[in-house]
Formats: sequence, C-alpha cells, structure tokens
Amino acid sequence: MVKTISIQTKSRMELQDITARVEDVVRAAKVKNGICHIFIPHTTAAVTINENADPSVQRDIVNWLNENVPFDADYGHSEGNASAHIKSTIVGIDREVFIEEGRLKLGAWQGIFFCEFDGPRRRNVYVKIVED
Ligand code: ZN
Repeated sequence: MVKTISIQTKSRMELQDITARVEDVVRAAKVKNGICHIFIPHTTAAVTINENADPSVQRDIVNWLNENVPFDADYGHSEGNASAHIKSTIVGIDREVFIEEGRLKLGAWQGIFFCEFDGPRRRNVYVKIVED
C-alpha cells in the first residue's frame, strides 16, 4: 500500500525536511526490516537526502541549482516553469532508505528533503514500505 504525505511549501524554491513525516509512516507500518521507497508525483519537484545539521547546505544547493538552471533562459516550454522541470530531472523524484529495527537507517547527518522548484504549492509525497 502507498501512503501519501501531504505538505505545503512556502516559497518558489525550498528544501523542506520531511524526515520526521517519513519516519511516522515507517512507525505506523510496524515493519521491523525492509525498504522505504519515497516517490514524488510531480514534474516540478524532487526529493533528495543530504545534510540536515547545517541549513547553509540546503541554501548552497538551492543557489547552485539557480545559478546553473536559471528561472529565465531561452526555454521552449510555454508555461514559464521550464527551469523547475529541469531541476526536478537533475535531482530526481525517488529515493529509498533501508529500515532496520523499525527505523530508517539514515546516516548521522542525513535528512530526507522535499525539493520545491515551482512553489508555493500543496504537494504530495508517496511512501511505500516493503518488508524483508
Ligand atoms: Zn511546466
């Protein structure tokens, strides 16, 4: 079964830490060992796993993406959000994390981040837990 996490983003571009929300889904599933799949059903958003201790890492990622994939350039897509589509493809729309003893097996400094590239919007994150 797929669980949906609903989130509200607050700005055009942001990385939002959803680790605790994903952990809630894992806890509710009562699975001891397995895999947690995280899938983003959007074309202008993404998901990544990176440092959650120093927020400047998230700002650096956003700034790098904006410098290399600017909002305005000679894009063909008429909707005006071509850069968001490209950023979504670069970062990717799925990740997986192992579950061990009922908990996400993340590194000490890792968090799961929803990446908004065309907000603010109401967004969904799909989570599927597969037991070993
Ligand atoms: Zn578009």
